Amino acid sequence: MYSIEQRDEQLVGTRAAIRYHCYFDRAAEHLLRIRMEVDLQAGEDAVVLVLPSWAPGSYKIRDFITHVGNLSAYDDRFCHLPVEWIGKNRIRIATGGAVMVAVEYVFYANERTVRTMHITRWRAFLFPVNCLFYVEGRTDEVHHVLLYYDRSQWRVLTTALSPVTVGDAGTEPVVLGALNYDILADSPTELGNHLVATFEAYGARHEVALIAPVSLNIEWLTEQCKTIVHTEAAVFGGVPYDRYVFFVYAGTNLTGGLEHARCSVNMCDVQALTDLSRAKSLLALLCHEYFHVWNIKRIRPREYGPFDYTREVHSPMLWLAEGVTSYYDDLFAYRAGFYSREEYLDLLARDHVGKLLRVPGRHAMSVRDSSYLAWVKLYAQSPDGQNRFPSYYLKGGVLSWLLDVAIISDTDGARRLDDVLRLLWEHYRHRPETGLTEDDVLNAIEEVSSKRVRQQFWHWLSSTDDPDIAAVVASLGLEWIIAPVPHQSVLVPPPRRAGLQLRSEGGRVFVASVEDGSPASRAGIAVDDEIIAVDGVRVTSPEEFSLVSQCSGDSVQLLASCDGKLYTTILGLPHAEESYLRIGAAPSDRAQRLLSRWLERAIAP
Ligand SMILES: [Zn+2]
Repeated sequence: MYSIEQRDEQLVGTRAAIRYHCYFDRAAEHLLRIRMEVDLQAGEDAVVLVLPSWAPGSYKIRDFITHVGNLSAYDDRFCHLPVEWIGKNRIRIATGGAVMVAVEYVFYANERTVRTMHITRWRAFLFPVNCLFYVEGRTDEVHHVLLYYDRSQWRVLTTALSPVTVGDAGTEPVVLGALNYDILADSPTELGNHLVATFEAYGARHEVALIAPVSLNIEWLTEQCKTIVHTEAAVFGGVPYDRYVFFVYAGTNLTGGLEHARCSVNMCDVQALTDLSRAKSLLALLCHEYFHVWNIKRIRPREYGPFDYTREVHSPMLWLAEGVTSYYDDLFAYRAGFYSREEYLDLLARDHVGKLLRVPGRHAMSVRDSSYLAWVKLYAQSPDGQNRFPSYYLKGGVLSWLLDVAIISDTDGARRLDDVLRLLWEHYRHRPETGLTEDDVLNAIEEVSSKRVRQQFWHWLSSTDDPDIAAVVASLGLEWIIAPVPHQSVLVPPPRRAGLQLRSEGGRVFVASVEDGSPASRAGIAVDDEIIAVDGVRVTSPEEFSLVSQCSGDSVQLLASCDGKLYTTILGLPHAEESYLRIGAAPSDRAQRLLSRWLERAIAP
């Protein structure tokens, strides 16, 4: 039966018939040596081993087998066993009556992202779904990982796996365990000399592991993590784990996050931890990945657990997994006090709704279809992508916000989206092995509010129409306005907008993307064209292009180049518009009450 729940105490003293010995003696070459041992069961004359092709939470076929090499198999008497490849990531080993099969291989780990492995002479990030084969038909068993490394050099280990041995002398391998392969695959480990801080909350131990090239203020980060845990757990009245790790990697060009049942892996620029004005995006990321403890790891679409690790697994419900989470990440950051009320309203208007309204693809594909096709759309984004589909993060987030407002309005402030989540949480608690269908979620929405809200939300999810934002938010006394961006400086006119993104390459300016239906698209400008001059003025960077066009009239003449041949065109330049969310002039008592309800900071279930 599928389960991702594990408490550390459950693994102490266990034995495992499937063991992975991991040797870090070639870490400086980004190599991990692995010896996988499988004790055979009576009558088992062959084993099939499979390496996953993707990491749950990141919907792209990555073929981790690419990084596997020097693979060979032996029996318990060190006699060579033939390995038969029966798929790109699948091997079959005839056991010849042995009681144990061992497979040895190396794994090349040199990709520093949240979803791939990175091992250097200084440290190692071990992410089992990348590098550890499973035994077909035996994924429900206890699995052990034995780590062999110089413990005088790497003094710190942080892991979402559970220790099997406690109080060792420091000379033996470290033995970690998981109750089944799904938990193993979902549980990363960091080895090295990183900073660690801990705190207790809701009876659970929380660890913050900060991996950075310089010594940063882990106490500050830990205080923020503590606030996030208290803010989010308040919705559910507690936490569903005994121990949780926030892995935070700070470094150059590091970005993104990945959720797990008992930890999250978060990456950020060092400046997010040295410059308070840039810290908020990290805090929102931490809120986002932490919320996945509930929403997706446990409250999940039926397709996302148990997993088929070998192929694309489609679900139309990433609007729930990522959309609802995208709405809640900034809402939690607001509830946690990271944003003022005004900052939060600005953020919603600008970074959520304003951004969505600049995506022409929202009229080309529903958010359900964009979710279903995540593998070949969002995760295979081309420069034309924004014209063809909306991101389920972005549109799913905006629709979740409107759903929250609609529920509050429909129930006169008695209920909210939090209540829907609590119902879905009850579903998980009673049937953890089974995920949700869309009907389960819609039923919960109807139970909390009404059939009318259910039907409205379903229309938003399945159509390509824009929701009537102004009408929905009016019930909270909010005004939704699209207006020209005002003067930001007395020295230059307000910005203009042509509907194109630019990139610079060696002092030259190229078109990165063009919005369908925009002035740039009407002017015939295309992706990869080079912009040479604006109204006869040479431009050498996107900033220069913006400044020159800002200081021009309603249109400019562009000198551009496509495929090595010059052309000229007239580019229209309307004033840039922005979305604003404001509290109306004279809201009714009811509107004021509902607005306060929506923006409550202390939430009790
Ligand atoms: Zn997410």
